Amino acid sequence: MKFKKSQKLYNKGLVNLVGAVNSPVRAFASVGGNPLFIEKAKGSKIIDVDGNSYIDYVLSYGPMILGHRHKKVQKAVTKALKNGYSFGASTENEIKLAKIVCDAFPGMDKVRFVNSGTEAVLSGIRLARAYTGKDKIIKFSGCYHGHQDSLLVAAGSGLATLSLPGSKGVPEGAVKNTLIANYNDLESVKAHFEKHDDIAGVIIEPVGGNMGVVIPQNNFLKDLKELANKNGALLIADEVMTGFRSTFGGAQEVLGVEADITCLGKVIGGGFPVGAYGARNEIMENVAPLGGMYQAGTLSGNPIAMVGGIATLSTLKKQNPYKQFDAVGVEIEEAILSSAQKYGVDVTVNRFGSMMNPFFTNKKVTNFEEAQTSDTKKFAVFFWEMIKNGIFLPPSQFEAWFLSSALTEKNISKTKKALDNALKAVSEM
Ligand SMILES: *Cc1c(COP(=O)(O)O)cnc(C)c1O
Repeated sequence: MKFKKSQKLYNKGLVNLVGAVNSPVRAFASVGGNPLFIEKAKGSKIIDVDGNSYIDYVLSYGPMILGHRHKKVQKAVTKALKNGYSFGASTENEIKLAKIVCDAFPGMDKVRFVNSGTEAVLSGIRLARAYTGKDKIIKFSGCYHGHQDSLLVAAGSGLATLSLPGSKGVPEGAVKNTLIANYNDLESVKAHFEKHDDIAGVIIEPVGGNMGVVIPQNNFLKDLKELANKNGALLIADEVMTGFRSTFGGAQEVLGVEADITCLGKVIGGGFPVGAYGARNEIMENVAPLGGMYQAGTLSGNPIAMVGGIATLSTLKKQNPYKQFDAVGVEIEEAILSSAQKYGVDVTVNRFGSMMNPFFTNKKVTNFEEAQTSDTKKFAVFFWEMIKNGIFLPPSQFEAWFLSSALTEKNISKTKKALDNALKAVSEM
């Protein structure tokens, strides 16, 4: 397998781009080598500039749930382009996408569209503060909620991969209202509520996806909602990754919890830049122009992105691939475990529907600390062997793999063979 053109573009990219990437998770910092440059993608496959074809389990870090260039989406977007790209005024499609979203999430009467997951969460946090009149926010170690200052502490994958404790450039004042708790540890949340009476909200990834996949144990989420509300705080579900992925109504539907504020991104735009936050009427009425919480955006509700979102979500609803995701997920999970056992490699697999990943550890992984017991050197060897076998994975031990509904039986058997080869390579390190 040759990477000559990727190598050349990488060197060229270093001149005017930072590390030749526009998001640090795309750098191959923890697996070594240089990032691949992509030429195009179709269905379950992605093709780099050297013509190497891979089965794609990155899926743009989640959005491409139907696979790449689904014909319904492509057609709708191409048609929309003919009418204009941005108007700075409302369009009917914003109403249509809003209805799809509010119908899927019972806790959302109204929604506001923004351009990214980061924007959705920072607005959701502001809304929790506006509604409660309180300042403090509890977040969980290892959860990532976008790159806004106040939540860029103990923030999972991107930072863990680069071994950064938080981020330079974030002033102390920006994080002084951020309290850190441990995932799956209700007592660590209780302790904050006992000490502080000005907590506006608790923000959580209802299924962790940015420290690798970490699943809430027992009734963690339900208990968390009860605890927050009892103390006059809101539960903010950051479903940027899980929304429309865990099932159509997100992780909340699967886990039987209704958050007070929900933040969305990724799948909601199907590959176009869309984020959203929403809540019950009584909460959303605080947002301008109805209320005093300001939040705005020149390109928010962008007409092309709205059409991409509508086409993606309506196709997804019709396909209803969630049972199939579970079946495929089980198959891949079992393949990892049986090859790992065959070659004597310690692996723990966490999976929630179409989100999964193996951790190279013999520990159970239920929080960030346990995730960090993983052997990242083993992951690096595993990653490159998978690449050589035609499988594209996120270049980090602490990122989730995603399934698309475009995966075929043939893709899955090729993946299983690759997994066997890669785990063998790990055992021979
Ligand atoms: C990806 C992600 C974000 C940030 O979304 P961007 O679109 O990258 O700004 C926020 N929260 C979670 C849970 C995410 O997975």
